Amino acid sequence: TFKSRRGLPQKRRIPDVAKVVAVSSAKGGVGKSTIAVNLALALARRGIRTGILDTDIFGPSIPTLLNLHSEPRLDSKNCLIPLTNYGLKSMSMGYLLPQASSSDHESNRPPMDTTPISWRGLMVTKAMQQLLHSVSWGPLDILILDLPPGTGDVQLTIGQEIILDGAVIVSTPQDIALRDAVRGFGMFRKMDVPVLGMVQNMAFFACPNCGHETKIFSHPHTHGSESGQDTGVVAQCKRLGIEFLGNIPLDARVCEDADRGMPTVVAEEGDKDSARRKAFMNIA
Ligand code: ADP
Repeated sequence: TFKSRRGLPQKRRIPDVAKVVAVSSAKGGVGKSTIAVNLALALARRGIRTGILDTDIFGPSIPTLLNLHSEPRLDSKNCLIPLTNYGLKSMSMGYLLPQASSSDHESNRPPMDTTPISWRGLMVTKAMQQLLHSVSWGPLDILILDLPPGTGDVQLTIGQEIILDGAVIVSTPQDIALRDAVRGFGMFRKMDVPVLGMVQNMAFFACPNCGHETKIFSHPHTHGSESGQDTGVVAQCKRLGIEFLGNIPLDARVCEDADRGMPTVVAEEGDKDSARRKAFMNIA
């Protein structure tokens, strides 16, 4: 890792993990973590051995989403043993910093907040390296990385430390989110990471009473679209030459499920007609 900071990147594979796929968004609040965890659970439900690594050190959300709050144990090689719920293995900074696992925003800040900036960067790098290299995942077919929002240092560090097999970009149909998503696309291109496609979250609002679908966020490119399908993210995917992976509706149940620590893919497992659940399963 010293070498990598000197400009000689030594990307490594995560031991026992076949494929690593990052889920990213250029800004916060677009539903990246919600989609990452539901995608991981959908893969696990298809019989694929799956794990999820929460790389958001300052705002970890996986502990809340998977309703896991205990402290991971170490194995004989001093590697962290992932915590498992709903058949999905997971690791998060939130497990290591007890107060960071709460959904309360104030207590989401790790104690390093009072540390001088120069130390903070170092500690973040160290913590990230431990999360990337010192977790005993056991044999996994796929590890989903829930990246922090944006295109900053953490994303670059991850790109330098490990081999990413692909990236999925989450965006809403809004113009501003889409422009940011294009920046994310550029970042992965520079890091030589194949972009597997984009997911459009909050694509439309499904009325819980009548089922009517309303587009909440309009986008200049949607106007005049005859099929009604050519919404913002679809158009952007065409332009960038990447795959459109699917629409996720804006739906109060998705949020409720997430908040109570039982994501929609698990919560509605018994309901074969659930459009919400199908939307997540189709991405996987
Ligand atoms: P990010 O990881 O991009 O910051 P989150 O996944 O934490 O975003 O989602 C932000 C908030 O929006 C959460 O409260 C989440 O439950 C809610 N949310 C995300 N996607 C949807 C959706 N499709 N429908 C309803 N609420 C959603």
